Amino acid sequence: MSFQLFGLPVARGVAIGRALLVSSSRVDVAHYYIEPAQIEAEIQRLRMARDAVVEELETLQRELPGDAPAELSALLDVHVMLLQDELLGAATKQWIAERHYNAEWALSAQLEVLARQFDEMEDEYLRERKADLEQVVERLLLVLSEGGGGRGRAGGLPQLSAATGDNPLILVANDISPADMLGFRRSVFTGFVTDVGGPTSHTAIVARSLNIPAVVGAREASRLIRQDDWIVIDGDAGLVIVDPSPIVLEEYRFRQRSGELERERLGRLRHTPAVTLDGEPVELLANIELQSDAEAAIAAGAQGVGLFRTEFLFMNRNGELPGEEEQFEAYRGAVMAMQGLPVTIRTVDVGADKPLDRLSIHELRQEQGLNPALGLRAIRWSLSEPSMFRQQLRAILRASAHGPVRLLIPMLAHESEIRLTLEMIDRAKQQLREAGLAYGEVQVGAMIEVPAAALMVEAFLDRFDFLAIGTNDLVQYTLAIDRADEAVAHLYDPWHPAVLHLLHHIIRAARKRGKSVCVCGEIAGDIDFTEVLLAMGLRSFSMHPSQIPALKQKVLRTDTRRCSVLRPARGVPD
Ligand code: PEP
Ligand code: MG
Repeated sequence: MSFQLFGLPVARGVAIGRALLVSSSRVDVAHYYIEPAQIEAEIQRLRMARDAVVEELETLQRELPGDAPAELSALLDVHVMLLQDELLGAATKQWIAERHYNAEWALSAQLEVLARQFDEMEDEYLRERKADLEQVVERLLLVLSEGGGGRGRAGGLPQLSAATGDNPLILVANDISPADMLGFRRSVFTGFVTDVGGPTSHTAIVARSLNIPAVVGAREASRLIRQDDWIVIDGDAGLVIVDPSPIVLEEYRFRQRSGELERERLGRLRHTPAVTLDGEPVELLANIELQSDAEAAIAAGAQGVGLFRTEFLFMNRNGELPGEEEQFEAYRGAVMAMQGLPVTIRTVDVGADKPLDRLSIHELRQEQGLNPALGLRAIRWSLSEPSMFRQQLRAILRASAHGPVRLLIPMLAHESEIRLTLEMIDRAKQQLREAGLAYGEVQVGAMIEVPAAALMVEAFLDRFDFLAIGTNDLVQYTLAIDRADEAVAHLYDPWHPAVLHLLHHIIRAARKRGKSVCVCGEIAGDIDFTEVLLAMGLRSFSMHPSQIPALKQKVLRTDTRRCSVLRPARGVPD
């Protein structure tokens, strides 16, 4: 039966494919297609993992102390029975043989099917056996990942290979962490749907950077959509259509093709300079999350990197943070890839909806009812970890010996933070000089993303070379709306007069002092905002590389003399 779900659009376009349901804890299971010739070997790998777990459980049972409760032995029996059940074994083999899924993927796909059947059971005792099934599958997945011959995980992220083409998949999950979302680059998925998340949550931002249609905040999606359902994602409207009729499917296939043609057409603007009709040059920069994204930035015609979110280097590493050398290589890689264009490297911004690890201090705080968006985030965390911070500063400074680098500091609000940060930068430079390590001229900039900073922007202009306005957070903190919470997403409004007022104030102040100012929040890539920002005097925009061509077209068609800082029918108090 066809039905529709409404969520929040985060990445434009149309995706059509079969649903792949993944629970949050299993998002990082390896997903890849195997060659037909590998089917037998993959089934054998699964069999060996199962035998190993059965043996483990039987040994455990044999060695149970005499006074162990009888239920324990019965429980182990249940686990062995589940492992040998055809519903798990035969069906999992079928996913491998017919769909060419690797063993881990097949196993987690079958678990989702069975878990749903357990959920629907009337009998409470049977319903509760779902937890046993999950434990057994977790065990199997662990054995497989510990050398069951699979490719396993790379750098804590899911390992995915290119889709075989005829079987497009759409990932449906309750939630996906920003780091796991990042792992889906070059993946088999052609779209994403999540139950939770706001349009500027970091998960949504990463989804957008993957340039594939996505809908977040679709509430019950992962409960209502079944494994393998055909679904259409309308990434412009935030709509998910499950089991679409042939007519609807045809309509969306047509829109998909039109979108591809439009992208191709816009791609031809790559070498055209972004200048308005009245001759105002506009700088279009790229936001990147990994060093390897620099390629996409160049391909899109970016004039540099306006925001390198370095925190993605720090995530999912089980507490082992990247050292100075590793960071230096990553930053230098991005600088070299940008071929002489400037690269703005932001110091680490973890916290809030970007936890370092899956169970991090930030999540623990959240569980305790504390709000991580107002906690030890970004520069606050860096200043609380001075040796980590100095390492990062040294790595960024060293990268500047290989090309133009601008250093950017997130979430500053206090005079004391400004002073301490600038002292730390001086100290890092001194350490490099003492060690005889080279660094170049580096401009230092501040992100203006807390209302306090916006209101005292003059103090920032006194101390910094440039400003970058982080509107994602500026909106969040001005309106007291958690950007990652879909329950209040309807109140997350960058058009709010208070936000526009702050934006205008910052841009005007920077221009008056002759200092460069850029917007690098999501509104920079939103063509509905371009005229208002140009009217405010903004001439530098940083966004996902995929948004650059459409924004350039908008700039080329705009006459700044006709732009107004007023949005039709909503005014800006000024
Ligand atoms: C912002 O807040 O607008 C920004 C660019 O930074 P981030 O989205 O990484 O918080
Ligand atoms: Mg921010």
